[in-house]
Amino acid sequence: MSDRLVLLGSKGGPALRPGGPWPSSSLLEIGGRAIVVDCGLGVTRGLVDAGIGLKALDLIFITHLHSDHVLELGPLIHTAWTAGLATLVTVFGPPGTGHYWQRFCQAMEFDIEIRIADEGRPDIRELVSIEEFGEGQVVEQNGLKVTALRVDHPPVTDCFALRFEHAPKCVVFSADTAFFPPLVDFATGADILVHEAMLEQGIESVVARTGNGARLKEHLLASHSFAGDAGRIASDAGVKRLVLNHLIPADDPGINEADWIAAVRKTWAGDLTIARDGLVVELA
Ligand SMILES: [Zn+2]
Ligand SMILES: [Zn+2]
Repeated sequence: MSDRLVLLGSKGGPALRPGGPWPSSSLLEIGGRAIVVDCGLGVTRGLVDAGIGLKALDLIFITHLHSDHVLELGPLIHTAWTAGLATLVTVFGPPGTGHYWQRFCQAMEFDIEIRIADEGRPDIRELVSIEEFGEGQVVEQNGLKVTALRVDHPPVTDCFALRFEHAPKCVVFSADTAFFPPLVDFATGADILVHEAMLEQGIESVVARTGNGARLKEHLLASHSFAGDAGRIASDAGVKRLVLNHLIPADDPGINEADWIAAVRKTWAGDLTIARDGLVVELA
């Protein structure tokens, strides 16, 4: 397995529109491990299309509990279970992840009990380990080291950027955040920085299409980064490649890749990827 990053879902926010991209989820294959980062709607389909056997589901990380990052966590594990999962899946998530999982299993109790009794499946509740984490080291295991940094995503306080290291490779995810200078130190020397991004000229149309105008705009400006901000973090951290992800807007016909490139080139001159669903970035 060659090391790679697959952007499964590349849009910011939970809304779906015809032909448009899907909410946030990524696959990171590093040091022989397949790691799922965030489980927005579409993650299961995305993993299957990326060639991942669901029975081999292993490590899942959730950056925060906004629905565009966690809505399909339960359905992903449940689908893997019905596909024959028989080994432990570990989910690392912020405080509240265990509560979500417990309630998901309760919501699916009828199906879970009947499949155990009728099909002789193992108990899904015994196949999943939930590890709630805070800032600092999350896990160190077989050469894989993961650390977390609390970022600035009000009103969510438990939102964490994640740094994945498996020597000599390193990939950092910003999670959802407003411009947050401590990410510079956190991302220093990374091969890839996956940073969320908004495009200034697209905000008005997103707000108009979604409704709830003033409040939504206020949230976007307080809790997310513009493409130029992402470029500043990448430049100051000296990363090898910047991937703009969690794009807002992601499905505006009046905005294309050239607009994103123009916005980020003001602050970032290095290797650049603008995310789209299913895009593979090799970890050279
Ligand atoms: Zn989000
Ligand atoms: Zn969020």
